[in-house]
Amino acid sequence: KKPVSILGIPFENTNQEQFESLLKQRIDHHKNTFVVTANPEIVMYARQNRPYEVLIKKADYIIADGIGIIIGAKLLKDPLQERIAGYDLFVSLLEWGSQNHKSAYFVGAKTEVINKLREIVTQKYTGLKIAGTHNGYFGDDRNIVGDIARTQPDMVFVATGFPKQEAFIDKNRQISDSLWMGIGGSFDVLTG
Ligand code: UDP
Repeated sequence: KKPVSILGIPFENTNQEQFESLLKQRIDHHKNTFVVTANPEIVMYARQNRPYEVLIKKADYIIADGIGIIIGAKLLKDPLQERIAGYDLFVSLLEWGSQNHKSAYFVGAKTEVINKLREIVTQKYTGLKIAGTHNGYFGDDRNIVGDIARTQPDMVFVATGFPKQEAFIDKNRQISDSLWMGIGGSFDVLTG
């Protein structure tokens, strides 16, 4: 189905099952993929911040992560199939990655959180290779970028909140043909 435009932002009109299988295929084929999981705050921020709007429109897919987006589409008489939460995608991809021996790099959140995340992934998603982790409070991203370039992970999860996560992905995604996804507070949720 055609994307649905909400305040100028084109949202994928898909459902979680279909979208997940698309992402898994792209990961299997090492296609460079940038996914924005957009909630109403992101849409409103993009309206006020033109560079951010331009940047998120460079993503391969913008998905509706928030009931507000679904309601908006309905009011515009151009309904979206369903909400797809970034967190749900994250957890499903960890599970699939574990079963299929994929690798992932995790950047974001405070040091304690990212350390706990490493433990949880090691214990629960035993087949998933951790390419590396870094907390989300960095000035210079050179070390992180170097690590990702060297390890070429299948998936890069960036959980530093918007707009920082999308800016990081847009700036660096050419260094590795991975799935790059900004997932806000997901590391806090998984470890909380
Ligand atoms: N965070 C980070 N670096 C920063 C600012 C925030 O890693 O410079 C982390 C923060 O610790 C939290 C997440 O980003 O884990 C933000 O979560 P939130 O739910 O606020 O995300 P948003 O909805 O703003 O995208």
